[in-house]
Amino acid sequence: MRNDIHMFVAANWKMNLDKKSISEFTKSLHKFKFSNQINSCIFPPFIYIDYLHDLIYNLPISVGGQNCHFKSSGAYTGEISAYFLKETGCEYVLLGHSERRILNNENNAEIKSRAQTAINSNLKVILCVGESLTNREEGKALEYIEKQINDCLPNNFKNLIIAYEPIWSIGTGKIPSAFEIQEMHSHIKKFVLKISNKNIDVLYGGSVNTKNIKEILKITNVDGVLVGGASLKAKDFLAIYSAAVKHLNTSL
Ligand code: PEP
Repeated sequence: MRNDIHMFVAANWKMNLDKKSISEFTKSLHKFKFSNQINSCIFPPFIYIDYLHDLIYNLPISVGGQNCHFKSSGAYTGEISAYFLKETGCEYVLLGHSERRILNNENNAEIKSRAQTAINSNLKVILCVGESLTNREEGKALEYIEKQINDCLPNNFKNLIIAYEPIWSIGTGKIPSAFEIQEMHSHIKKFVLKISNKNIDVLYGGSVNTKNIKEILKITNVDGVLVGGASLKAKDFLAIYSAAVKHLNTSL
């Protein structure tokens, strides 16, 4: 992230929005006045990356892939290479999302090699980590996230952001307390600094919406947000983006 910018707004569309809705969405983006203080990226379904990229190439919003394979090419039917993402105009890739970990059995070792391949292809990585409700209730959340990071971080990484997304918060409307978010983000930053000597940005993800965004952005060590459900409507996505701009301007 550039020094003069310290807020990131990412939109994970998951398996949502077809061509017609993407076209409608981008019409609203073209009417909006973007800020050069914010980094923003939309992660559409793979099949529409090219389409979205062509529609917004002249706007200050990047496009990213929701995953990539750990090999750059080969006999991997149905998979997407980091190199293809880069060639299609992606700047970022999301890795280790809990839906991939749970539904597609992606483990830490595999996520680490995906991240390494992505970095070798000059993609910027948003690495998702998050604990289950059981981990949280047993008081093991910090320890669990520390292990995920330790096992997933590639060697000599660059251009990598961590998204803290508690599994129990994704799509549920439940969010951790401000204290829990602050504690986790600060723990992640300290831990990454300890093991890699690098300062890292940490985004919060999990049920972020137009109502709670203002409070979430006020939390210490929140460098931005990764938004799922609330990023599917241009109006809500832009309201969240505007809240980030306002937050930066009031905290300057
Ligand atoms: C996500 O899936 O990355 C996410 C944060 O989803 P939601 O905002 O819908 O909870």
